[in-house]
Amino acid sequence: DAFIVKVSQAKALNAFLVETPEHAIAAATAADTAREAGETLKPLAGVPIGMKDLFCTKGVTTTAASHILEGFTPTYESTVSQNLWDAGAGMLGKLNMDQFAMGSSNETSAFGNVISPWKRNDGGNASLAPGGSSGGSSSAVAARLCPGATGTDTGGSIRQPAAFTGISGIKPTYGRCSRWGTIAFASSLDQAGPMARDVKDCAILLEAMAGFDAKDGTSLQLDVPKWEAGLSGNLNGLRVGIPKEYRVDGMPEEIEALWQQGIAWMKDAGATIVEVSLPHTKYALPAYYIIAPAEASSNLARYDGVRYGIRDLPTGAGLQDMYAATRADGFGPEVKRRIMIGTYVLSAGFYDAYYTQAQKVRTLIARDFERAWETCDVLLTPTAPSAAFALGEKSADPIAMYLNDVFTVPSSLAGLPAMSVPGGLDKQGLPLGLQIIGKPLDEQGVLNAGLAIE
Ligand code: GLN
Repeated sequence: DAFIVKVSQAKALNAFLVETPEHAIAAATAADTAREAGETLKPLAGVPIGMKDLFCTKGVTTTAASHILEGFTPTYESTVSQNLWDAGAGMLGKLNMDQFAMGSSNETSAFGNVISPWKRNDGGNASLAPGGSSGGSSSAVAARLCPGATGTDTGGSIRQPAAFTGISGIKPTYGRCSRWGTIAFASSLDQAGPMARDVKDCAILLEAMAGFDAKDGTSLQLDVPKWEAGLSGNLNGLRVGIPKEYRVDGMPEEIEALWQQGIAWMKDAGATIVEVSLPHTKYALPAYYIIAPAEASSNLARYDGVRYGIRDLPTGAGLQDMYAATRADGFGPEVKRRIMIGTYVLSAGFYDAYYTQAQKVRTLIARDFERAWETCDVLLTPTAPSAAFALGEKSADPIAMYLNDVFTVPSSLAGLPAMSVPGGLDKQGLPLGLQIIGKPLDEQGVLNAGLAIE
């Protein structure tokens, strides 16, 4: 009953930017027709999916929740969304998100905050953040507005919102899902993945979304494994690594308790626990907040008022003025902050001091994980250092916001598959997530470990 949401309540969540019921109905009708004709149903026949507004959808407005893309209607379909439609799914609508996927609370959207359907049990009525950047996806799935949604994860944007709203979400190995037609944030990190109620639904959705795509130069030329069929909650013989550096200063007791609970569940399922060390963990967040803005500043150079979305052309203005006016008006403050940081760390005088250093750190972090795989098969950590915070609580303090990504960013830098599954509730009745990080291409191991503890 807790999950029955009235239409008015559903609208108040502000999870959807565009509603496309006709698309979902067409998929459902096609599924009915196939069933009546006795045909074998496609894996997602008639399933209504919410699409994060970072995926270009042909004929349907796509904005990345930025004013600069208002009115942009793609003439092409992203590979990931096309794969879902080919598997029989239909689109319920486009989901709100942090602008250009930059944020951890969905508060950087140009189209209003998304609200989490959860409330604290202390009687306070504060609206809580659904996490970000895939906050429309997490809120919609948690409120049961759709059985599954797409997300993208550059530094945690599938996993942290999943953790905040008590759902599951997996970021596959970098390269599993094509980036073609997905609006770019930081290309060396961006990965699509599913967000759903449970691990099994994530496996089913990921199978449909993933696959080699010649249109993405970093797409992995590999078959998509049968993850759903391979699901097993039996972890006999599995070695679960606990990275000691994730026990960060000031981590709330509840998060530590959640982690211990996760360890106990893993043991019950047959796993053995080993302590491992990932010595460069503390450098991951600063490295990420150099590399991601650097790539973003380059990717976002294309929004010039000429090719997409809005154009601000002051009377008598020249080309430079048009660029400046369009970008000043079109980008939100967090996006501008990232562009400023990115252009600074890439500039001639500072490149070696920041960008080159961050790239070296990235290599060291990847090596930390490689060394860990000598003694364990998956890693178990909390997904985020806190439960959902209230809207407005961190929005004035970018550093506090960035710190929320401390556990999700390292695996992103290393391109590893990682998942968040619900781990229980805190004292205020809010969901907490446990993160499982896997070896490259071992989504199966990650999903199985997730199944054992969900
Ligand atoms: N919160 C992180 C950021 O703001 C991660 C975002 C993401 O994964 N898209 O960059």
